[in-house]
Amino acid sequence: MNAEIIAVGSELLLGQIANTNAQYLSQQLAEIGIDVYRHRVVGDNRERLLNEIRDAEQRADLVILTGGLGPTKDDLTKETVSFHTNKELVMDQESLLFIEQYFRDSGRPMTDNNRKQAIVLKDSDVLINKHGMAPGMIFTHNNTVFVLLPGPPREMKPMFQMDAVPKLLGLFSDGQPVHSRVLRYFGIGEAELESKIESLIDAQSNPTIAPLASDGEVTLRLSAKHMDKSQAVAMLDDAQEKVNKIVGEFMYGINEQTLLHKAAYLLASRKKTIAAAESLTAGLFSSQMGSISGASAFFHGGIICYSNEVKEQIVGVRKETIEEHGSVSEACAAELATKVKAQMNTDIGISFTGVAGPDSLEGKAPGTVWIGIAYEDNPPVAFSYSLKGERNYVRIRTVKHGLFQLIRLLNEDKSSA
Ligand code: ATP
Repeated sequence: MNAEIIAVGSELLLGQIANTNAQYLSQQLAEIGIDVYRHRVVGDNRERLLNEIRDAEQRADLVILTGGLGPTKDDLTKETVSFHTNKELVMDQESLLFIEQYFRDSGRPMTDNNRKQAIVLKDSDVLINKHGMAPGMIFTHNNTVFVLLPGPPREMKPMFQMDAVPKLLGLFSDGQPVHSRVLRYFGIGEAELESKIESLIDAQSNPTIAPLASDGEVTLRLSAKHMDKSQAVAMLDDAQEKVNKIVGEFMYGINEQTLLHKAAYLLASRKKTIAAAESLTAGLFSSQMGSISGASAFFHGGIICYSNEVKEQIVGVRKETIEEHGSVSEACAAELATKVKAQMNTDIGISFTGVAGPDSLEGKAPGTVWIGIAYEDNPPVAFSYSLKGERNYVRIRTVKHGLFQLIRLLNEDKSSA
């Protein structure tokens, strides 16, 4: 089995960006036993792209194209592949619904160009873009399998890992269907997780275990091949158990479940209410809660307490706490959580205080973060972190850590399970 990768985009030829997509795809293909024989890079030019496609098709069992799926004039991949294969371009209703929802969620108006993104090659297997708009596609033409993927790495990687690889394994796997499961981890880096389960990854061929890092989280895709679905599920269960004997403490969800959705699900199903006091995150946590439909059942509200005056006068933190320990401290985080819980009459109070950077605060380095959680009548707890990166990355990561700790506490609370 051999593959060629065609990266489309003039900015690659101009040296404005490096072809990291080809590097990533080669690594991933090597893991599933497909040899990559050639990387091709071509600008946004129809004739040259057509030549590359024709040439690659003659040599390879698998041709992967990335980029050029967008809505603008220079995005030519779909049209050129359609011309080459004689496959009509048709509107894909599922992708269109997804794109419409994307615009509804972001409150932006949708243009005809955006609608164009949902156009796909007829009779192809469509890969929904869960991190952007342009869908991907898989189909076979003249005995060669073609995969079309979007250019942006944050869209391309999860689409390839989660959706394309299981289909490729199925196509190249003597007809046995492939069943996949995605395990989601937080609080552990990709390299650390991979090195902890390295021997398992190396030893397993069915199911296979493949890690992927994105947005500060790590996922593992388990893929089992078996004619009988229940047997495949048992194989996945077994692999999951083996992996989680080693790194189970970091797992929070499976498949499409994000940290936010898991936390919201646990709050709703356990009938717990929550309120937030947010300093460095300045409303990010509350805004995310608000993005969940039905949030009013568990989210009472939040206070943005950026200044010490607001921490004291509105949330009710004692002046002495801030004078003695500072606003970025275990004591302040715990008190913020306790007070906001009491003020908003909830089961849980959560607080975020820290130094987003780039400057230090109270002698504490940028990235120093405290998260407080007051859970019912238990003594409040606070968790500290030293996060790396620019200020908005620190703030986003802080919310994720808060959600992760919340999930842990809700899972530990057997009384409401
Ligand atoms: P969009 O809908 O964003 O237009 P697209 O599929 O049309 O997606 P392109 O317009 O070709 O993709 O590229 C969008 C961006 O994705 C590029 O500006 C670049 O940042 C990134 N990108 C594209 N191709 C590659 C590549 N081969 N390696 C790394 N990054 C890439």
